[in-house]
Amino acid sequence: MRPFQYLKATNVAGALRAGRDASDDPSATAYLAGGTTLLDLMKLDVIGPTRLIDLRALASEHGTIRVDGDALRLGAFASMAAAADHPDVRERAPVIAQSLSLAASAQLRNMATLGGNVLQRTRCAYFRDPSWAACNKRRPGSGCAAVGGANRQHAVLGAGADCIAAYPGDFAQALIALDATVRLVGPEGARSIAFSDLHRDPKGAPHLETTLKPGEIVTEFVVPAARWARRSLYLKIRDRQSYEFAVTSAAVALDIEDGVVGEARIALGGVATRPWRATTAEETLRGAVLTEARAAEAGRAAFAGAVAQSHNAFKIELGRRTIVRALLAAAAMEVDHG
Ligand SMILES: Cc1cc2nc3c(=O)[nH]c(=O)nc-3n(C[C@H](O)[C@H](O)[C@H](O)COP(=O)(O)OP(=O)(O)OC[C@H]3O[C@@H](n4cnc5c(N)ncnc54)[C@H](O)[C@@H]3O)c2cc1C
Ligand code: SF4
Repeated sequence: MRPFQYLKATNVAGALRAGRDASDDPSATAYLAGGTTLLDLMKLDVIGPTRLIDLRALASEHGTIRVDGDALRLGAFASMAAAADHPDVRERAPVIAQSLSLAASAQLRNMATLGGNVLQRTRCAYFRDPSWAACNKRRPGSGCAAVGGANRQHAVLGAGADCIAAYPGDFAQALIALDATVRLVGPEGARSIAFSDLHRDPKGAPHLETTLKPGEIVTEFVVPAARWARRSLYLKIRDRQSYEFAVTSAAVALDIEDGVVGEARIALGGVATRPWRATTAEETLRGAVLTEARAAEAGRAAFAGAVAQSHNAFKIELGRRTIVRALLAAAAMEVDHG
């Protein structure tokens, strides 16, 4: 690991001040939350910030989970474990609780924050190993070693010649399915954006993964109340049953009345370059009775534009089946709309 300066911020204003004072080069400074992604990448020499601003004390101000009106507000510095276990999250948005409790390990979930989770970097082995010269995400313009290489874990949706890495997280899919917004505070002030606008497509600039402006801090996720949020679940398919990233996953949310689907939300993980909303699949369900055949149609629609790499064609069929299983399980849930 390279030497770096360590600063501790006690509030957002202090963190922004420290970032401003730090350097003319914004990439020289990094925010530290739980450190479970950041410190790994520093040790591997994938990134080498010269200044770390520790944000963990911001948990006192931005680490609570509460119901406000009808919306669920999740502080970005709450731990994954706290959100996964919170009774309001489990009752009002089970897909969120499940996406978090199925992620990583108990130790990591205690340490890692919600904000850090959505900003985690890809697990592409070529990205994480600087001895590989070709990685556009790590070294813009250098090429992509995964195209034609070891790409079993990579994306079949949203990929192009620039980068085929899959977005690895779980929580982001739940946020997208439930139309969450994310609150950001930066040197130019505070703003809220749709969570679906936080992550970028890799095309042209795969090293830029989000639409965050320099110095911006994620402070909160807001999940609006909706009938479909209560009938929601996260299905994660992985190579082993725990402590493993998704090979495919589906976050689904349904509003069903008298057997007919009023609203359907589907977001996919493990198969796409960014958290992926399957809007065409959702359209096949609205106004329909959710039979297995209809769920299979949704699965086919979700992967209609999929492009397989040399080692991951299996993800297309597996992803379709993940959607079918998730939809049928959500339809069978007993839901109390309160
Ligand atoms: C072995 C292993 C297995 C894992 N398995 C899974 C899994 O199955 N599913 C899954 O979803 N994740 C998994 N993870 C990833 C893990 O969940 C993330 O590392 C963790 O959530 C990151 O949170 P953190 O608080 O530690 O972030 P950090 O490592 O501190 O930060 C991550 C990035 O976000 C930035 N950042 C952090 N917080 C903020 C903020 N509030 N505002 C602005 N920038 C910020 C940091 O600068 C850094 O760039 C796994 C990790 C490991 C090591
Ligand atoms: S898939 Fe993306 S992260 Fe992996 S080697 Fe190619 S450019 Fe780098």
